[in-house]
Amino acid sequence: MTKHEMPTHGTNAPQPVRSLRDWLDHLAARGRLSVLKPNIGLKFELAAYAKRLDGQRATMFPKPGGHPIPVVSGLVSDRGWMAEAMGVEPSEMLAAFQKAASNPIAWQEVKSAPAQEVVHQAPLDLAKILPLPTHNEHDGGPYIAAGIMIVRNPRTGKQNVSIHRCQLTGPNRLGVLVLPRHTFAFHRMAEQAGEPLDAAIVVGVDPLTLLASQAIVPIDHDELEIAGALQGRPLPVVKCLTSDIRVPAEAEIVIEGRFLPNVREPEGPFGEFPQTYGTRSNREVMEIVAVTHRKDAIFHTVVGGGLEHQLLGAIPKEATLLTHLHRNFPNVLDVHLSPGGVMRFHLYVKLKKTQEGQGKNVILGAFAGSFDLKHVIVVDEDVDIHNPAEVEWAVATRFQADRDLVIVPESQGSKLDPSNRDGVGAKMGIDATKPLAAPEMTFKRIRVPGEEAIDVAEALKRGGDWRAALKS
Ligand code: MN
Repeated sequence: MTKHEMPTHGTNAPQPVRSLRDWLDHLAARGRLSVLKPNIGLKFELAAYAKRLDGQRATMFPKPGGHPIPVVSGLVSDRGWMAEAMGVEPSEMLAAFQKAASNPIAWQEVKSAPAQEVVHQAPLDLAKILPLPTHNEHDGGPYIAAGIMIVRNPRTGKQNVSIHRCQLTGPNRLGVLVLPRHTFAFHRMAEQAGEPLDAAIVVGVDPLTLLASQAIVPIDHDELEIAGALQGRPLPVVKCLTSDIRVPAEAEIVIEGRFLPNVREPEGPFGEFPQTYGTRSNREVMEIVAVTHRKDAIFHTVVGGGLEHQLLGAIPKEATLLTHLHRNFPNVLDVHLSPGGVMRFHLYVKLKKTQEGQGKNVILGAFAGSFDLKHVIVVDEDVDIHNPAEVEWAVATRFQADRDLVIVPESQGSKLDPSNRDGVGAKMGIDATKPLAAPEMTFKRIRVPGEEAIDVAEALKRGGDWRAALKS
């Protein structure tokens, strides 16, 4: 079905999508949302449904564990869906994301917001206010897994937006994994001054704001401005009740709090994107001081290791890697972080090779672009890098290990790769491009003339009465 043939419903047009509710309408109108039976359990049962339907259906759980606020999951577990949310074709998605990241639109403050219709203040019991699910077998407890964390630079006041796993560790207390990026930098600035760092966790935003939160941009670039650019409008924001943080006005739920200086408490384990557990360790601690939400709020959760989890990080990373490679290799046509490589560790690169040896330079360039990358495979322009079987075919027919393999030992990798030693491990690059000087017939892909024109649907409808065929 092309974009124009799709049925429309509710307020889902025009694209791009601008709120979670628009997106739920969009999914429902296309038969991609399953509203499940009420009272599905918050511990494991909800995640089991979401996981089994991941990639096929988004899920909504009314009265989860008897809680009045419903949970949704699997909102963006397909690349094509994300392209629809952006209002572009899948092949245009990386370029559209990079355009938004380099042309942010300042947000617009509003005085009153749906996100603040209902207000809860101290004393707070988060588990009573919100339906907090536990997903994987050995997770340390209930988690807020799909909240965008917004903090401000204590020196410049500029905001940062990112997603962190937040474990409920007390009635109004969360253990938060803060990896060394921008939130970490602001946290350390506040801590050095002996101050708490105000923070807001926003749950239930549109897919484009979720995607923008994963943009790889310099410090002091407010990712909400990228969300605005993706949506094609200044994002409406509202000031938090207890801090100067501005949060998306149309969000479902806002959890306001502050990171405590010089406090670390155990957090984890947690089922992570490589489909292995992130470890339990002493982590940053956030104390919650207020919760606001819509009158009929919806809670969003991402099941760790699922397609939704992987895809949200992959698209911004692909876009950034493509831009990075284009600086030196304008003949790189496309990149893809493959699902089998947990959309972080394996990069497929499509190259229109112009110089012999260039495949290896592209491999080295890609590794310089992201320390998460572990294996890079470079293929020619006739290979579909979104089809892992095609990439494997290129490796099978165009690669020789003694000539085309690059190994870099003892380099920085992901700390969430359980096979390396605390983030130090090997890189491997596979140059599966054919030699430029090869005779044309050597690597030419076989083809039956006319195969594309066959009416396969008609052929599949035909029966198997071969005896009747003998007589005709
Ligand atoms: Mn940032």
